Amino acid sequence: MATRQLPRLLKTLDPFRAPLGTRAIGSLVSDHTAKWMQDTRKKSPMELINEVPPIKVEGRIVACEGHSNPALGHPIEFICLDLEAPAVCKYCGLRYVQNHHH
Ligand SMILES: [Zn+2]
Repeated sequence: MATRQLPRLLKTLDPFRAPLGTRAIGSLVSDHTAKWMQDTRKKSPMELINEVPPIKVEGRIVACEGHSNPALGHPIEFICLDLEAPAVCKYCGLRYVQNHHH
């Protein structure tokens, strides 16, 4: 009985396997990126955030909110600073390093 119901179940799931409008969304994304990258005199967001020097922090863990005003930032992200290389916030791209006392 279970095997006889399987083809009908697969047919119901079919729209999810091949979503309509996938191509339309893809072209929207590339248009948006092209709009931001067409003016080469301006720096890209990635270049701008890389110009911010790594922030020195006391302690092993830093909480990043992207902005001092929570309404303008991002969900709080706790970042562990155990590695030697600067840790990067996955939301805003700010870099943090642990301020070692030697
Ligand atoms: Zn952040």
